[in-house]
Amino acid sequence: MRPEAVAAMTAELTAVGNPSSLHASGRRARRVVEESRESIAAALGVSAGDVVFTSGGTEADNLAVKGLYRARRAADPRRTRVLASAVEHHAVLDPVEHLGEREGADVTWLAVDELGRLRLDVLEKELDAAPGATALVTVMWANNEVGTTQPIADIAALCAEHGVPLHTDAVQALGHLDVDAATVDSLAVSAHKVGGPHGVGALVLRRGLAVEPLLHGGGQERDVRSGTLDAPAIAGFAAAVRASRDDLAERTARVRRLRDHLVDRVTAEIDGVTRNGDPRDNLPGIAHLSFAGCAGDALLLLLDAAGIECSRGSACSAGVPRPSHVLLAMGLDPVTAMGSLRFSLGHTSADSDVDRLLEVLPGAVARARRAGPAR
Ligand code: PLP
Repeated sequence: MRPEAVAAMTAELTAVGNPSSLHASGRRARRVVEESRESIAAALGVSAGDVVFTSGGTEADNLAVKGLYRARRAADPRRTRVLASAVEHHAVLDPVEHLGEREGADVTWLAVDELGRLRLDVLEKELDAAPGATALVTVMWANNEVGTTQPIADIAALCAEHGVPLHTDAVQALGHLDVDAATVDSLAVSAHKVGGPHGVGALVLRRGLAVEPLLHGGGQERDVRSGTLDAPAIAGFAAAVRASRDDLAERTARVRRLRDHLVDRVTAEIDGVTRNGDPRDNLPGIAHLSFAGCAGDALLLLLDAAGIECSRGSACSAGVPRPSHVLLAMGLDPVTAMGSLRFSLGHTSADSDVDRLLEVLPGAVARARRAGPAR
């Protein structure tokens, strides 16, 4: 967490008061929540009334996808189609699949190109295919595995032309790119991706856009989301958003330079390494690399033993690792996809971290290659 977020959150942890209570302590907690809402809204270019606090990105995505689908379909039963990019995070992918399997949605996964960018021609064709039948479109702002960013303004313009609401998962984008939430109808963010605490996030929802709530209860957040608000976490979230907005240009330029240096050195010093994702429009802190001839899992564990923590994009179901749906959608073959790792850099990363990776990586790759690729 960023120090500003730790300070704001810890200052609140010992304060008394539920933001929904009418007494003085409650009103004080409410002020903290509303000032936080205002800072987050200002950083996102929307008004405070558009921000609905949630328990994180997963809940915000679920609320948008299921809530928009149910409300739009209830208003017009012909609206059964859901168009979603093929590279969404599971927080979007799984609710979309749920709608298809359990609630009669007609789901279309929109193709991406080899860099992971949505094919606008495919989106346009699908929007034209059945006018009046699309409940929503959901396309993430930036991908969490390969870092590719989507042409969100162009996607939003196409959706607006067809009168279909667009949800975007901006969990990876906030704090790392300029995010103008007014570009879209609905946008999910999460505090822990910007140096705030885990377990808090928000759905930015254009006023007037109906969503069916997922949680019913006290109706705390515009009747769209019930549950006692976590004022300390919200204060930490807002402090992290302010801090990451204040140093956005300088920090992301530094992280981007460091990431490019990492990619240049690894691809120059180790044979058989390729970079995945869009080399131009991307998140500054992600380097996603495929290592020919080795299993990503084996390499990950060898690096972990040397104190370098990275991740694989592939999911694991029933204990069996599977290739990442993102890499498969970009056209990678399953074995190459399984030999790929994501290296993430952030505000605390330094040249010495890249140097350390380069000390360890050639030996780890050689060892992992002796064990062979994933089967
Ligand atoms: N969407 C994306 C793109 C993510 O990267 C993540 C988390 O990694 C989520 C959604 C889920 O957010 P949260 O962890 O706040 O539930």
